[in-house]
Amino acid sequence: MEFAERLKKLGIENAFNVLGKVLKLREQGKDVISFCIGEPDFDTPENIKKAAIEALNNNMTHYGPSGGLPVFKRTIAQYISKTRKINVGEENVCISAGAKAIIYYTIHSLLNPGDEAIYPNPGYPTYESVINFVEGKAIPLPLLESKEFSFDVNTLMKLITEKTKLIIINTPQNPTGGFLSKKDLQAIADIAIKNNIFVLSDEIYSRILYEGEFNSIVSIPGMLERTILVDGFSKTYAMTGWRLGFGVANKELIQELTNLENNCVACTTTFNQFAGIEALTGPQDSVIEMVKKYRERRDLIVDLLNSIRGISCLKPKGSFYVFPNVTQACRNLGLKDADELQDYLLNNYGVAVLARTSFGKKNKDEAEEYIRISYATSKDNIREGLKRIKQALEK
Ligand code: PLP
Repeated sequence: MEFAERLKKLGIENAFNVLGKVLKLREQGKDVISFCIGEPDFDTPENIKKAAIEALNNNMTHYGPSGGLPVFKRTIAQYISKTRKINVGEENVCISAGAKAIIYYTIHSLLNPGDEAIYPNPGYPTYESVINFVEGKAIPLPLLESKEFSFDVNTLMKLITEKTKLIIINTPQNPTGGFLSKKDLQAIADIAIKNNIFVLSDEIYSRILYEGEFNSIVSIPGMLERTILVDGFSKTYAMTGWRLGFGVANKELIQELTNLENNCVACTTTFNQFAGIEALTGPQDSVIEMVKKYRERRDLIVDLLNSIRGISCLKPKGSFYVFPNVTQACRNLGLKDADELQDYLLNNYGVAVLARTSFGKKNKDEAEEYIRISYATSKDNIREGLKRIKQALEK
């Protein structure tokens, strides 16, 4: 069958492929510990579920305006104004079915064929995939273990050309757990302002931070009009399946995102939006409790990983991922790379992790091997999974 040529340019989030393999193995009766998918193992807090049920009972089951209900947009504008120390209103907000949709709409709104967009590598795979899909040029910005998975400013400067339209950043970061300091953000802002470039700031993990204060590039003077802040409810409030996210940007760009939303899904599920209002305005204890648990798990998993021969692992400041260096482990086992290690661990030891290549092709001169482990799972799973990895690597 012949499909449109452009489909060949679209990538895929490999975590879902590996999850498919995990489910298949489990169906065959195999006991598999999965660290592959990036989603909270907690249930959505009760007060949020109740708000959705109430909205359903009140028949909030009709179409709503594209871009979101005004009352929810105002709630988001207030939340972002307060947490990012800026002043935005409902005209600066577009609500969508997940943060992922805002990434898709933004790239479609800003890039013409041949325009360049810089994205973090390793990074969330959707960025590169959608840049390619719109026939933009995807320019990887290497994230470096030696800089705790931040980037080198000189390298970023060298990547800028007159075709650069967009820089994508993500802090705290998937897959490395890295975190951009105020200094890093200032450096990016200086470059963006000087060269008239937009910044898509993916802040979906902003509340899952263990040390220091979260800083957003949008708070830097001169950045409000050129930043598209992307955030959502999936991670902070354990609401992945609800599909609820949003973008905050200048009102002209928001109009374009809303237009794409209008053409694509018309509007975000109406009763979900009432759950979102409760999430942002109701008690925040469950978020604090979840982050406390993630922190304990992070400490546990980093210690366990560093006790395994051939692995070294930095302690990430945010998100719920670790990105251990497994170069030596691969060599010890005679494996070519982390992809082979991923298969080896899944097929022989029933542990699902993701190889570095699930987050983009290796950068030029990148010699090390890495895997991503999501520790959004119980401590018992972490202990059992890490016991198996130790057995595999130290046999
Ligand atoms: N951005 C990053 C960095 C992510 O890791 C994810 C999900 O894994 C998303 C965006 C998408 O979030 P949502 O569930 O709101 O679409």
